[in-house]
Amino acid sequence: MERLRNEEMLLIPGPTPVVDSIYDALAQETRSHTDARFAAIFREALERTKEMLKTDGEVFVVSGSGTLAMEMAIINTVAPGEKILVISQGYFGDRFIKLGQAFGVLVDVVQSEWGKQVDPIEVEKQLAGTQYKAVTITHADTSTGVAADLEVLVPIIKQHGALVILDGVCATAAMEEDMSKEYGEANAKIDVILTGSQKAIGVPPGLAIVAFNQTALAAREKLGQVPGYYTDIYNWIPIMHDPQKYFATPPVNLVYAYNEGMRLVLEEGMEKRYKRHTAYGKAVRAALAVYGMEALAEETAAAATLSCILYPEGLDDAGFRAALAQKGLIVAGALAHLAGKAFRIGHMGNTTEEMLERAIVLIGETMNEQGFSVDISKAVDVFKGIATAQAF
Ligand SMILES: *Cc1c(COP(=O)(O)O)cnc(C)c1O
Repeated sequence: MERLRNEEMLLIPGPTPVVDSIYDALAQETRSHTDARFAAIFREALERTKEMLKTDGEVFVVSGSGTLAMEMAIINTVAPGEKILVISQGYFGDRFIKLGQAFGVLVDVVQSEWGKQVDPIEVEKQLAGTQYKAVTITHADTSTGVAADLEVLVPIIKQHGALVILDGVCATAAMEEDMSKEYGEANAKIDVILTGSQKAIGVPPGLAIVAFNQTALAAREKLGQVPGYYTDIYNWIPIMHDPQKYFATPPVNLVYAYNEGMRLVLEEGMEKRYKRHTAYGKAVRAALAVYGMEALAEETAAAATLSCILYPEGLDDAGFRAALAQKGLIVAGALAHLAGKAFRIGHMGNTTEEMLERAIVLIGETMNEQGFSVDISKAVDVFKGIATAQAF
């Protein structure tokens, strides 16, 4: 595995641990954004992105965060006054509601209780009653650790003729996202995938990444003018085809880093990455269960990339996380009504088995310091049993 010069273990739902070769890439000489040497690296990064997502369409890598990528996905496919259906399994699913409304898009929502998946029958009912231009799915909702069941949702949506927009900000490169895959029937494919650099790809924050397939590009064409300028993919297509052209200055050093991040992703291979993340997620949740810590999501619905873990009675959120931070382990608090009641731990990107095992130990030690009596070696055995048993 890659060497890490990091002093802390950043096991939050992103940014995630950055390996040395990515830092080294980031620290390369800043060149002109139109320099042929930079353009070659940018082109390679775009090719690698296409290869990762197996798309026959266009990919866009621009300065911004995941939220900008969400905005690009919406404004380039849906016109003000048109309708979208948001499938929400938490805070980031809900973000599409506000985002759509900001552009005058009419938004309906199918929401799940936090910690559960949406009921596909409700989705079906909603789709049967109304014609939607697009449906948004959050692949892994970072607030709850719940994964969406694409095998079930994509075919239902496609039967009703809507575009499928997939928010992969906490999933892309770790959970299966294959734009060439037909879900159930011919051409039932994911149309748009959006993500950011800092989560399962393991690159520092700062890049918004979006892929459009041919169906989504045809939808863009029909729109004519869109309510965006920086976010209009038509301003970016010429640059993505020829990075020596200029529209708005790309973050040169981040593109170096992203290209190295994508090299590592493809070197490991997608199948291996999907299996590795699945195993890590299961292993972390099973080990924490030994401490009496339960995941919010049921195991069958749990994301491979991060887990939202409920505190046992008597463990104080702020004190627990501060003590872990003292030991060099950073985990995240929970959002909205779960704040104080749960914490979130990321297990994605270039996070290693050694790091996660160490995290299990540190969490156990911290609990014992705070008056609990948990079996650390048992938790470590459970962790290793699952994480190592998988032949990645
Ligand atoms: C983090 C996250 C976002 C927002 O990404 P930013 O980079 O913070 O803008 C959106 N969706 C999901 C699922 C996320 O995990």
